[in-house]
Amino acid sequence: MTKDRAVLTRQVKEASDIVAVIGGFVPLKPAGMRYVGLCPFHNDHRPSFNVDPKWQNYRCWACGKTGDVFTFLQEYEKVSFIEARAMLAQRAGIALDGDQGPNQERMQQLEAIRWAAELYQNCLLELPIAERARRYLGERKLTGETIRKFGLGFAPGTWDWLVQQAGRSNQPFDVLEKVGLISPRSVDAGWYDRFRDRVMFPIKDSSGRVIGFGGRILPDAPNIDREPKYYNTPESPLFSKSDVIYGLDQARAAAAGVGYLAVVEGYTDVLMAHQFGVPQVVATMGTAMNARHIQQLRRYVQRVILVFDADAGGKGGVDRALEVFVRENVDLAIASLPAGLDPCDLLVQQGAEPFKRALESAVNALDFKLNQMLELERVNGIQGQMRVLNAVLAIVAAVPEGANAEAQQKRELVVNRIAHQLGLSERRVWERLGELRSSRREPDSRPAETSQPSTSSAPALPHEREWIELLLAEPSLVSKARVEVPVDEMQHPGLRKILDGLYSLYDAGETPDLDALRTRLDHPALASKALELQHTGRTSPADRNDWFAQLCAAFRSRREQNSREKLRGDLTTATDHDAAIELLRRLRDGQADSDSKRAG
Ligand SMILES: [Zn+2]
Repeated sequence: MTKDRAVLTRQVKEASDIVAVIGGFVPLKPAGMRYVGLCPFHNDHRPSFNVDPKWQNYRCWACGKTGDVFTFLQEYEKVSFIEARAMLAQRAGIALDGDQGPNQERMQQLEAIRWAAELYQNCLLELPIAERARRYLGERKLTGETIRKFGLGFAPGTWDWLVQQAGRSNQPFDVLEKVGLISPRSVDAGWYDRFRDRVMFPIKDSSGRVIGFGGRILPDAPNIDREPKYYNTPESPLFSKSDVIYGLDQARAAAAGVGYLAVVEGYTDVLMAHQFGVPQVVATMGTAMNARHIQQLRRYVQRVILVFDADAGGKGGVDRALEVFVRENVDLAIASLPAGLDPCDLLVQQGAEPFKRALESAVNALDFKLNQMLELERVNGIQGQMRVLNAVLAIVAAVPEGANAEAQQKRELVVNRIAHQLGLSERRVWERLGELRSSRREPDSRPAETSQPSTSSAPALPHEREWIELLLAEPSLVSKARVEVPVDEMQHPGLRKILDGLYSLYDAGETPDLDALRTRLDHPALASKALELQHTGRTSPADRNDWFAQLCAAFRSRREQNSREKLRGDLTTATDHDAAIELLRRLRDGQADSDSKRAG
């Protein structure tokens, strides 16, 4: 039997104390009746994030993010309402019925990958068939502790090792295929393993769930010449190579302590850094740093350090880093290692100190680019200086002009630094930036990227807003409200959606409250708005019946005003004298109200 959705939502909410849940992600300290901490949603320097146990909500005084335990998880873990509810239900030990879990298919896939990761790991640690893999990892100087910590495994070279295991454990082959572990044979029936003779690196999401694998072929594999050295899980609903940050689940706690995350290139760099006691290190999956990476990293730290080998840094990496620095709200710095050494080699050959020193002396991405260019143009006088100016400003000019204050601050900072470094006036640098911008504006230039749908509709009329505040605070009034104010009278689109949801719930015989509405409002911004309105409604000192009556009166007078305006409009366009007289009479008698009632 299916549990009622609203009942389930309410149960889960009651079982999930907001202070305990948020406290699991963000360190919170008691402050009077509330708890405070650093806001995970913006670049917070002092604790602006308030969690209120009484009202079971949170609010950031700096960035305005607000909501309840569900919206917090939705925004923090980037999941849907249904998934957030499932995560909390699991935490609270509340059983979910089939159709109410987060996407069953996804859960099945995660389970299949988890199963395979365990098998691969057991194989590496225990089975004779993995002897070569163990020897290889030993040669790479990885300790057993590191190997266990990151769950490394081994996929044997026979073509059907995993397939056979799956047969024995009744793992569905089609699910294993979907997650990229096996493929159907092309000639006869059956399946074959996609990862063969490879050391397996489980790739996890930030909460530590395995979502894919990277496989490194053993150097003495018989097919080494025909196969790629590294092979990743193909793109799937679970795994998107350009979004993944390797090692984030292991690094996030350490990062909170030191205030930054260092980004390297390979799995073994991450493993070795942890092994040498530098745990605030993660890797991208061989793709350049992008906005989605930064958004994930910014949940944990304000400062990101890109670690470059001194050679590699010259190949466009620094330009891209500078672009990210200008575009994103992040303090991005560059650490360069001695030429020809990746972090793994450096750590193994010289220990932790040189690597730690490189991280400590990381240079802000802009200064790094300026220094690099100035070094190149050192002997070229004024012309060289202009080339430096143009090269750096060209990158800045390529970034769309963001409308927010932070983007503007970032640009001011950049111009100030450039002017200072090159000994030019800031005005001169602004002028040049303006010139480069206008020469870039092509007819098909893309508009500034916005990550959120625009919510810049006109503000709601006070009586509309209060109507929703009241109904969310007092669901028992919805039945009366339904008669007084039809949905169409709500002009504000967001509020109309909420009102429509409440009325529909009432019509369907369900309790018209916010818990029931949540599954229908799967837009976190709207849900968080609704929570805010509910809070205002609940904390209002007004008598709810009086308030209801006042708002009904406000809607009525609005209605009258509208129909009077309509009559006046009709009057100015009326061509027939008698009709005009009649309209005037009605306008004077104030019949507008009853007319509109008849019409509505
Ligand atoms: Zn905030």
